[in-house]
Amino acid sequence: MPFKSLPRNSVHRALNALGDRWSQLIIREAFWGASQFGDFHDRCGMARSTLANRLKALVKNGILEQRPLKRGMARQDYHLTPRGRGLFDYVMLAWGWGVKWGMVSPGAATTLVHADCGKAMLPEMHCEQCHGRITMRECTYTPGPGAGTERVPVQRMHRRRYPDEREMTFEVVDITGDRWTALVISTQYFGIHRFDDIQSYLGIATNILTDRLRALEANGIVERRLYDLVPPRYEYWLTKKGMDTYQHSLSLMLWGDEWLKDPKGPPLYIRHKPCGHRLGAAVVCGECKQPLQLEAVTVGRAKIATKPEAASAKPPRGTRKRVAR
Ligand SMILES: [Zn+2]
Ligand SMILES: [Zn+2]
Repeated sequence: MPFKSLPRNSVHRALNALGDRWSQLIIREAFWGASQFGDFHDRCGMARSTLANRLKALVKNGILEQRPLKRGMARQDYHLTPRGRGLFDYVMLAWGWGVKWGMVSPGAATTLVHADCGKAMLPEMHCEQCHGRITMRECTYTPGPGAGTERVPVQRMHRRRYPDEREMTFEVVDITGDRWTALVISTQYFGIHRFDDIQSYLGIATNILTDRLRALEANGIVERRLYDLVPPRYEYWLTKKGMDTYQHSLSLMLWGDEWLKDPKGPPLYIRHKPCGHRLGAAVVCGECKQPLQLEAVTVGRAKIATKPEAASAKPPRGTRKRVAR
């Protein structure tokens, strides 16, 4: 398989371990209490062969493990490993972004209730030092001991194309479920806005970059800004919705740093400008601002009240379920 050299980044390792959008739907549903093949099949809407294949990969990558339903029983269910449970912050924040901006898949949970305060809430990422909400503009980067380039398999990167508008509607899993989409968004966090600069930074083919930028623009995540008139040339900038992906992208990187350690150390250090500390992040309840624990979150499939631009318009479904432990 051909390889490509890319700037070293824990997100690459995390994306490899997580897999595509189907795998990410499975992980999310494992947090929401699914453990049997049939649960995942009913909730994720994928072919049985695809599901079997993705479950196998998630077990291989140490995110899920198989355990018998009861001692001595032949049938094995799927449960999150400690590495898998480490994705709690990511799953919470990604889900929150999807609900806030109306980009969750049909049938997905649309309410999370925090048991400690009893309120339906959207999770937020706060700085562990100053307790301020973490935003893209308030973080700075310096190379860590693991900085440099790494070789990444190319075939894994060409998962999806968006040949026409009908296939361009994103759900939250499409942000990180397609490697190129995730990487194109990440160039924006580093202030790389021009087509040629993005292309050379990622070593991405012109047609794939055009394709991904078109899809991101169609989904309101990036916008074009004219910077030269003859010929017309554009820069690409994240919209407010695009900037809002920062917390869940960051949590994925932090998970990669913690659970898929580079022997040299983190490729990137992040500093929180308002307090000046190296970033440690905690996911808190958006209502009571207390740290969220897996055991204190219940998931419902009824509609949550969100901002007008973020109406999720999902029908109420089922009853609340306690999430997996
Ligand atoms: Zn801080
Ligand atoms: Zn709360």
